[in-house]
Amino acid sequence: MCRRTRPAALALTAATTLVLAACGSDDGGPTTSSGDADACPGAVVDVVVSVGQWGDVVEALGGECASVTTVIDSVAVDPHDFEPTTGDIAAFEEADLVVLNGADYDHWAADAAGNVDPAPVVLDLAEVVGVEGEEHAEEEGEEHAEDEEEHGHGGVNPHIWYSPDSVQQAAEALTAELAELSPDAADHFAERADAWQQQLEPYLAEVDALRAAAAGRTYAATESVFEYMAEAIGLTDVTPEGYRESASNETDPAPGDVAEFSDALGAGGVDVLLYNTQTEGGVPEQLRGAAEDAGVPVVEVTESVPEEGLSFVDWQLAQLRELSAALQRQG
Ligand SMILES: [Zn+2]
Repeated sequence: MCRRTRPAALALTAATTLVLAACGSDDGGPTTSSGDADACPGAVVDVVVSVGQWGDVVEALGGECASVTTVIDSVAVDPHDFEPTTGDIAAFEEADLVVLNGADYDHWAADAAGNVDPAPVVLDLAEVVGVEGEEHAEEEGEEHAEDEEEHGHGGVNPHIWYSPDSVQQAAEALTAELAELSPDAADHFAERADAWQQQLEPYLAEVDALRAAAAGRTYAATESVFEYMAEAIGLTDVTPEGYRESASNETDPAPGDVAEFSDALGAGGVDVLLYNTQTEGGVPEQLRGAAEDAGVPVVEVTESVPEEGLSFVDWQLAQLRELSAALQRQG
């Protein structure tokens, strides 16, 4: 099965059925959602997106005027440990635009884009929103921020798709870049941007509602993936420091740190445990058990889009609603 293909019913009812989707392999190879040259008032832009977290966003903003290839489009692949195949690298050859998450999350994609001649335009979303990876910061000769050691992934938290502000800034930058690459399609991209804003409304409304519900409330997390969203809604992180540092540096926490975390869950100071289902292992499971024993609600979050064809908004909204329900249960 292909991921992110357009629904068959849509293709059948469309006047022109050029909405084709070429599939990658089942094991998480690149997937492509094609634009429609007949329906696009300008040139269709060939876009390669490194990770599925941004794939749906780019497809929504590109509409008929973008063919979007997403390289990591499977929840079974850990983006942190990803090593591209020659097939993955080949996906970059025809790209007009390469969209990176950045912040050292997908360096392999920056490298692949750098080896293409003529060079595609590269849009680094972390750079757009002002989150820079270590290597980038070093290139620029900047001092590292003092709090960087608290985060992993080469110094900063790269999970910027969990920040509502960053998502909106990234979308604006994407629309501007698409319009620059295909100026005759600028109106189409503007329409898509409006439609995207409308899609985003329930998500933004849920963020607002959570901001009220989260006041004075606390969470602990098995992994730092949700951190930007927790900050955005004002939920206080009480994950024991030793555990948090090792989790964000992707090292094994010391037994003492795990015990401290279990104790904290039992002590009543944690309102909700955020559990990243994509980094399962003995320790997270142990913590989940401790939370369940203590009656602390567990809210599951994922690094990547968890299901085929699920839109970015539906994915995020489902998680936010789970969190909202958990906080209500605890309240
Ligand atoms: Zn991560």
